[in-house]
Amino acid sequence: MNDQSRKSYDAIIVGAGVIGSAIAFELAKKGWETLNVDKLPASGYGSTSNSCAIVRAHYSTFDGVAMAYEGFSYWKDWSNYLDCKDERGHAIYMQSGTVLFMLEGGHHEKVLPLFDQVGVPYEILSNDELRERYPFYEHGTHGEPCRPEDDRFWDEPEGELIGALYTPDSGYVSDPQLASHNLQRAAEAKGGEFRFNVEVVDIRQANDRVAGVTLADGTQIDAPVVVNVAGPHSFVINKMAGVYESMNIKTKALRHEVHHVPSPAGLDFEKDGLHSSDSDLAIYVRPESGNNILIGSEDPACDPQVWVDDPDDYDDVVSDDQWNAQVLRLARRVPSLGVPSDKKGIVDLY
Ligand SMILES: Cc1cc2nc3c(=O)[nH]c(=O)nc-3n(C[C@H](O)[C@H](O)[C@H](O)COP(=O)(O)OP(=O)(O)OC[C@H]3O[C@@H](n4cnc5c(N)ncnc54)[C@H](O)[C@@H]3O)c2cc1C
Repeated sequence: MNDQSRKSYDAIIVGAGVIGSAIAFELAKKGWETLNVDKLPASGYGSTSNSCAIVRAHYSTFDGVAMAYEGFSYWKDWSNYLDCKDERGHAIYMQSGTVLFMLEGGHHEKVLPLFDQVGVPYEILSNDELRERYPFYEHGTHGEPCRPEDDRFWDEPEGELIGALYTPDSGYVSDPQLASHNLQRAAEAKGGEFRFNVEVVDIRQANDRVAGVTLADGTQIDAPVVVNVAGPHSFVINKMAGVYESMNIKTKALRHEVHHVPSPAGLDFEKDGLHSSDSDLAIYVRPESGNNILIGSEDPACDPQVWVDDPDDYDDVVSDDQWNAQVLRLARRVPSLGVPSDKKGIVDLY
């Protein structure tokens, strides 16, 4: 049970999304007395709730690949990792595997040496193997990504993929909000505390170091460590702490649309599909329950980048233009895809 009047902890964690809840769990396991504070009513209600929750390893740095690879083992053995029950049940890891389509000079060239260094299991699939396993994918390449408004979008393919990099351990999490709740319960089982519906309005400092946080109702809570995991609001917290301007790597909130379309007739993408990363068309897809396909964007230069100044005030309605761009891009890769008139999807911030 949380002691709502307690005023001092080893660490205060600002945010109780999947990252904040995971940090609480890991610190609590090491004996830290932690408090997560979140302005929303429950864990994982921020950007985590709208995440595609894809778990993949093809990052561009050794550290990124190594961390993601370690993550596979937790997701694949989630209940044991948590070591704790949750009255809502545990999130399920859908180990669909990933194909990263390969292009001459493409991202796989950076990734493969890192996979070898880290020991990430993978297979290189030829186009014939790709066709045999995933016959619904076309193999054409289309040059620099462009938008459907551009005549070039409709040109015949310029060339062919050179196969795909397949990672069998990757996939996606059935319900990222539930995964976050699981981590909250796991942290609480080790003594971590959470307070919801409380907003941090100041990061206090004393003697040139952090001293704690102040909440909107004036409550002051002290800790020698304050962890900023406020997701798209993290730059706001950095500004509160007075450190934003001096940071070498600044964060900003980027608007991101993800669209849902039904699988083509005769294809059970939920069962036979997989997470696919397509830098030729600048999209990624994964199966979604109800035999749907979820389509995200790899944010190509031709697409408008909408940076958001106020993460509490942005346009969260799916736009016709971006829906067309992402869905028609997938229709180039999956020619049997029907393009529905009903534009379903979500909008959130990275
Ligand atoms: C549409 C979309 C799709 C994505 N798909 C993927 C994917 O497939 N795979 C992947 O790995 N990642 C994906 N991401 C990114 C991933 O979802 C995020 O990196 C992750 O969920 C962030 O978790 P978090 O805990 O850091 O942030 P959040 O879940 O946003 O949590 C931050 C919390 O901080 C709280 N907070 C903010 N300000 C304050 C304050 N002042 N006081 C108190 N509380 C505060 C918020 O209420 C919120 O609950 C996607 C993101 C989006 C938007």
